[in-house]
Amino acid sequence: MLRKSAAMSGLPDARGRYGAFGGRYVPETLVPALDRLQFGVERYLQDAEFQAEFQHELKTWVGRPTALTLASTLSRRWGAEVWLKREDLAHTGAHKINNAVGQTLLAKRLGAKRIIAETGAGQHGVASAAAAARLGMPCMVYMGAVDVERQAPNVGRMQLLGATVVPVTGGDQTLRAAIDEALRDWVSDPNGTYYSLGSAVGPHPYPYLVRELQAVIGREARAQMLEQAGGLPEVAVACVGGGSNAIGLFHPFLGDAAVQLIGVEAGGRGAGLGDNAASLTFGTPGVLQGSYTLILQDAFGQVRETHSVSAGLDYSGVGPEHAYLMKSGRVTYESATDDEALDALAECAKCEGILPAIESAHAFFGARRYAQAHPGSRILIGCSGRGDKDMPILQRTLLKGFG
Ligand SMILES: *Cc1c(COP(=O)(O)O)cnc(C)c1O
Repeated sequence: MLRKSAAMSGLPDARGRYGAFGGRYVPETLVPALDRLQFGVERYLQDAEFQAEFQHELKTWVGRPTALTLASTLSRRWGAEVWLKREDLAHTGAHKINNAVGQTLLAKRLGAKRIIAETGAGQHGVASAAAAARLGMPCMVYMGAVDVERQAPNVGRMQLLGATVVPVTGGDQTLRAAIDEALRDWVSDPNGTYYSLGSAVGPHPYPYLVRELQAVIGREARAQMLEQAGGLPEVAVACVGGGSNAIGLFHPFLGDAAVQLIGVEAGGRGAGLGDNAASLTFGTPGVLQGSYTLILQDAFGQVRETHSVSAGLDYSGVGPEHAYLMKSGRVTYESATDDEALDALAECAKCEGILPAIESAHAFFGARRYAQAHPGSRILIGCSGRGDKDMPILQRTLLKGFG
């Protein structure tokens, strides 16, 4: 099954490139660890026994397949036929668990004794901690000190799941610093430690590995559309931070020329550098954390801080395959502002009884915009996660004035 999805684009090439993008731009000290990972990916990802165990965990522990839901009220309001792929129903509340389980199983195959992970908002940290607990591995999660403060409930969840959370006080004290710290840890013990990376970013083979583990979203959604809707969607829409839920949803549709694909980035407060996290829309080519991709940087190549109301989209780079898919024209990328996403979130919650993550709400807004321009169309939205984790921010925004 995985082979089919890989064959559809034929990428990455042997050097981990998606056209001009991707590759492996790392200090020499990291090369042995990446070589070992590359070996593991080639040896185990298509292996029948690995796949059987992965599929078993997805089914009996994660709760897959996740539902495909017809959003009937949104359909009526938008004058379209709107379907939701419900990753919010997956264990721990988002798509990230698919990747975390897959990588933890791979870590065991490679003989690693411990899992390390980085996290920004805490979602990948929680997924990694849960997967490590389930599969009997100790887990250490690096998290910027600022994020530890901002995302206290997720810190507690990770600790209850048995993980050690390490606040990172260097650098920008957020996600980028946490990734750097995790890489340092990994270099010091590449054989005993497995670094579970949380999105389709970083040096080869991570973008490929994460895509293959997340493609289950699109494979299920494609089959469910055929069965429940009686045909493929005219368009599939997903939010893009690092790009893992989007590439997972899109990839199995790449060969369907009639299916348009739209990725929606975080437009934040607007177009100014530092006001958004829309690396595909506003970024320029450069190297970030091991990959040649589109990044938000100033004229001197300094990576800039980003802004988004959604912590999960708040990253200054994007997975290299998305940069390639944009340049090739196969996928269209646009953005939704903070206010637009919050508005779409409120509408979905009230109309469908589903509180999506603020990240996912960016996709809902993109879908609504598409429906307005294409009346009567059949639309598939990737609902990447649930919004419970966003309550503190929703209290300060949408609920302000509710008393
Ligand atoms: C982390 C997260 C995202 C963004 O990450 P991608 O790798 O771009 O998918 C989107 N939605 C939710 C719910 C998340 O937790």
